[in-house]
Amino acid sequence: MKRILIIGGGFSGLAAAMGAARKLDELGVTNREVAVTLVNRNAWHSIRVRNYERDLSEIRVPLDDVLKPIAVERVEAQVTAIDLARRRVTIKTLNGPTQLEYDRIVLAAGSQVNQPDTPGLAECAFNVDTFDAAARLSDHIAKPAKKPPGAGRYTALVIGAGLTGIEVACELPERLRIAGAGDASPAPPRVILADHAPQIGSVMGNDARSVIGEALAALGIETRTGIVVSAIDQEGATLADGKRIEADTVVWTAGMRANPLTALFPVERDPWGRIAVDEFLKVKGVADVFAAGDVARMIIDGRHPTVMSCQHARPMGRFAGNNVVCDLLGVKPLALQINWYVTCLDLGPWGAVYTHGWEPKVVAWGMAAKRTKRTINCVRIYPPRSGSRREILEAGAPTVPSPPESYR
Ligand SMILES: Cc1cc2nc3c(=O)[nH]c(=O)nc-3n(C[C@H](O)[C@H](O)[C@H](O)COP(=O)(O)OP(=O)(O)OC[C@H]3O[C@@H](n4cnc5c(N)ncnc54)[C@H](O)[C@@H]3O)c2cc1C
Repeated sequence: MKRILIIGGGFSGLAAAMGAARKLDELGVTNREVAVTLVNRNAWHSIRVRNYERDLSEIRVPLDDVLKPIAVERVEAQVTAIDLARRRVTIKTLNGPTQLEYDRIVLAAGSQVNQPDTPGLAECAFNVDTFDAAARLSDHIAKPAKKPPGAGRYTALVIGAGLTGIEVACELPERLRIAGAGDASPAPPRVILADHAPQIGSVMGNDARSVIGEALAALGIETRTGIVVSAIDQEGATLADGKRIEADTVVWTAGMRANPLTALFPVERDPWGRIAVDEFLKVKGVADVFAAGDVARMIIDGRHPTVMSCQHARPMGRFAGNNVVCDLLGVKPLALQINWYVTCLDLGPWGAVYTHGWEPKVVAWGMAAKRTKRTINCVRIYPPRSGSRREILEAGAPTVPSPPESYR
């Protein structure tokens, strides 16, 4: 029996499992001939892009609901080492460490928020990188502060004004207002969005930035650019120039880095820690290994590298799953090409902004763009939840969808 091992059950890993199962089904190969196993550190497929939302109740799907109908085995464990020469992966389970053998692997272990060694960051700041982290933030905001009212009691400081930071900040005035509803004398909520860069939303074009500016102003969010945070504590942050920002809630959203497992491969990594894959999702310079999602860098249209996004992770996963089976069985693989790029940024109660293209052109904003965002977050990026084997296999087909619909 041959074994395909998929590391990670997020957007790319789950798509790879569906893609591999679909290809095996198409070729008439049974799971007694080729077994597909997915290793994930918990039992959930997390819709990570929704971690900034207030209601977290719908943002995890049990992996077994998708994997069982397509006969993919699930192992709940943390991958700690990969022995490329012996084709063995070391995993840490609740019962201790053990090893899994493989013929091919798909690395789909995602990314994590950048955590520099700023004093107090690890202990005192919140983030929305994982479901557990987002739940901790929710608990913290929802609990009326036990301590006497201080300057920062209903103030939140969001550090990192990229896309995630903007989405987090735009939700916070409402969340703080709700949290203060039971307080006899709540201070008005105050949200500060800060970045060391000279502007908010650096990766967006000028047009989108002006929409973002309008939304932030309407929501009463203060912005601070060009600031350097030197320490974080329970009451706020100290800046490099010695000034203080008093805030009981500090959320860190400054940058992402590929999963540290990428360091186990004897290849160059890009500035985000990603390893290069070819158009078939095969890791360049390493035998028997495919990679997809945030751990992988691929040129998708002859010019642009993939962006760490579920937009790219999902098709990369489907093609990696298809091609890892092809590689194992000597069948011609399929090249992935994606000829479009969009962003759809949630701007809280104000709406959203939807852009098309690598030079972002605003195609919709306000509540029209919000409709697109809700469709993406609540429908488009979910795996089938019907339990239907046929539907799940079809969702694993190596295809690239059209961009999300734009509304007027
Ligand atoms: C708040 C937020 C908002 C975002 N908004 C957007 C957006 O609007 N649009 C967009 O396209 N992208 C967005 N992103 C980025 C997007 O979530 C990621 O690019 C995407 O999740 C990458 O998919 P992935 O499969 O590579 O990794 P992930 O989805 O992170 O999945 C990785 C999986 O691997 C598992 N894992 C990790 N390490 C190990 C290990 N050692 N052993 C076993 N299992 C392991 C994890 O538990 C996880 O299940 C957002 C991200 C965040 C945090």
